[in-house]
Amino acid sequence: RPPPSDVLFATLEKAAAFYRSELMNTARGKDYFKSRGLTGETAATFALGYAPDAWDSVLKLLGGSDAERSRLLQVGLIIERDNRSGHYDRFRDRVMFPIRDARGRTIGFGGRVLDKGEPKYMNSPETELFHKGRELYGLYEARQASRTLSRLLIVEGYMDVVRLHQAGITYAVATLGTATTPEHLARVFRICNEVTFCFDGDRAGRAAAWKALENSLSQVREGRQIRFLFLPEGHDPDTLVGEEGREAFEARIKQAMPLSEYFINHLSAQVDTHSIDGRARLGEMARPLLERIPAGIFRELLAEEVAKTVGLKRDRLTSMLGEGAEKAA
Ligand code: ATP
Ligand code: MN
Ligand code: MN
Ligand code: MN
Repeated sequence: RPPPSDVLFATLEKAAAFYRSELMNTARGKDYFKSRGLTGETAATFALGYAPDAWDSVLKLLGGSDAERSRLLQVGLIIERDNRSGHYDRFRDRVMFPIRDARGRTIGFGGRVLDKGEPKYMNSPETELFHKGRELYGLYEARQASRTLSRLLIVEGYMDVVRLHQAGITYAVATLGTATTPEHLARVFRICNEVTFCFDGDRAGRAAAWKALENSLSQVREGRQIRFLFLPEGHDPDTLVGEEGREAFEARIKQAMPLSEYFINHLSAQVDTHSIDGRARLGEMARPLLERIPAGIFRELLAEEVAKTVGLKRDRLTSMLGEGAEKAA
């Protein structure tokens, strides 16, 4: 008997194949992806699919026995009815994005409504195979496109990854509707040394960028490059690469803002740097963040830059990094 997870992988694979064939065989899903500018080739690369508008299509196809239904439940493809008599499909009338692990095995799905509706995206729940804080959508496809990934572009959404990939920017990956976690970042830097964050040009995107900076600080090392690409208001990578194409978009990536610059700019924008109060506050905000950076030249230089901005003398710098406390101890 195969180990339980093999059976669960097989269940997810069968569901992915079903959604895929539904996409091929019905106009509704195909027309939707066409309207978003996707080609059939892209749909094949990402194994995109369509979950039909029914309560029991996966249930009927793959849930014939108690054992099979229990597997569908375990991988989150069906939901138990409130009164506990029976089940229904989780994904209905949605275009489907299979989420694959590094080995290309489907571990979950994201599904998008075609018209207006809530929630816009629905993800598989956390299961024993699927951990949202760890997975990066598009990583498998990025690896398929280039065995030697030297850089990654971290974006917010499924469509961003897929549309960028189609445009030839195959090194884009997305977190799955969660903020970028330290776990994501540790993973990303095990793969490559050059990381650019590119979130939506809206308030949520900018908040996500700062959060990503905070979570990146502990990953700063010599030889690593961490940068931030801010998009024009109202754009996301999908809309922008669709509008201006690969070259213009890659030029933006090349010119993305280094972490150090974003660090200083963002903190400076929070305070009035012309007042002592404001500069003191900037120093106070910077200190715990600087402490997250491993000791080394980069931290020294950034701390010096902060000191310059707040008007502190160089010899006050050490105490900002808690080295005064170490000495006293
Ligand atoms: P689209 O271009 O298809 O409208 P998007 O990716 O631009 O989608 P955003 O609203 O910018 O949509 O959201 C970014 C990402 O956040 C989505 O791709 C999805 O992964 C996640 N997300 C958005 N809304 C939800 C939701 N209601 N529940 C879970 N995840 C969501
Ligand atoms: Mn957004
Ligand atoms: Mn978006
Ligand atoms: Mn979008």
